[in-house]
Amino acid sequence: MDAFKRHSLGGRLHSDKKSPKVEPQRPGTLDMVVESPPLVFYNTPAQSSGALFSGQLKLNITEPQTTLDKFEMRLLATVTTKKPVAQHCTDCSTQTTEIHKWEFLKEVVSLKHGMHQYPFSHLLPGHLPATTHGTLATLDYSLCAVATTSTGEKITYKRQLDVKRAIFPGNEKHSIRIFPPTNLTASVTLPPVIHPIGDFPIEMRLSGLVTNKEDSQTRWRLRKLNWRIEETHKFVSPACPKHVGKVGGEGKGVLHEDVHVIANEEVKTGWKTDFAQGNIDAEFRAACNMALKPVCDMESPNGMEVKHNLIIEMVVAEEWAPLKKPNQATPTGAARVLRTQFHLVLTERAGMGISWDEEQPPMYEDVPASPPTYVEDFDIARLEAETSSLHI
Ligand SMILES: [Zn+2]
Repeated sequence: MDAFKRHSLGGRLHSDKKSPKVEPQRPGTLDMVVESPPLVFYNTPAQSSGALFSGQLKLNITEPQTTLDKFEMRLLATVTTKKPVAQHCTDCSTQTTEIHKWEFLKEVVSLKHGMHQYPFSHLLPGHLPATTHGTLATLDYSLCAVATTSTGEKITYKRQLDVKRAIFPGNEKHSIRIFPPTNLTASVTLPPVIHPIGDFPIEMRLSGLVTNKEDSQTRWRLRKLNWRIEETHKFVSPACPKHVGKVGGEGKGVLHEDVHVIANEEVKTGWKTDFAQGNIDAEFRAACNMALKPVCDMESPNGMEVKHNLIIEMVVAEEWAPLKKPNQATPTGAARVLRTQFHLVLTERAGMGISWDEEQPPMYEDVPASPPTYVEDFDIARLEAETSSLHI
């Protein structure tokens, strides 16, 4: 996988603060109309068919005539870490990868005053990680178009691209946990995926509560039930060529990890205790706390990763009761904390979940073509309405 291997692009601009800023007269302006729906990768990186991005660049020539030597646009992925190997080194903190490049001119062209349109399209591969603003690093996609005139003047246009991932829900997940040395067993049912907005159900049966002896029994009573969702961010900070010595050589980096809670609650009610069957059945709902800015699951070959765990914690107290009068229980004073965790997949809602290969917006070769025809205009608009509600 070549994407996201480090490589730097171009030189940086240095501004001279002493000289007054003079805006040079541009020979024209650039603007963009995006025609494809919001960019959503449906399903996992291994399964996704990607997302189609298409639109038109509008080049407005303000002079009577301009000659263009070059007109190109790059789609860039930029990873910026808050934990650079060398403090204040921009080459350590930022890595840019070119995902795609469009070249709109095959030869030098002379353009007249007025609007000139350049359609473009590209299928963003579904294995790319989604736009992610994590606690250790951020991943952003951007477009950068540059038209260069024969006199060396540049007309530029920049735009951020928000790429989301929505993993389709599969079957419910059933897990069993045991808590030795007790006979307690928890079987838990969880949804296959959860979302940043909206709650989800958790079903749990705790069995093996009761141990019967000849004329008495000991049993566990649930005193307290808590859950929390932990978000784990990982990032391997790379070093720029100047600072590779700090990480012990090229291709190596420093692993950073940040674990924090994005939701927690004490469940006060909602469980039923049945000592005759020896079970406790609990049903409750959990949700991410939006104020704690949950970040969807992601994994990138560069070592950037976001994952989630649900942690359920129970306090059980032991009690003793004679079999003749099982309702007259006495606490024995013994208590245990039972703690168990489950992997959760946090992803955007799939909505109608129509990927580009099921419903295709216009696609262009990289040369001007006839205007797009929307055969299924209605459905595209509906998809847009559905997915635009995901913007947080
Ligand atoms: Zn550096």
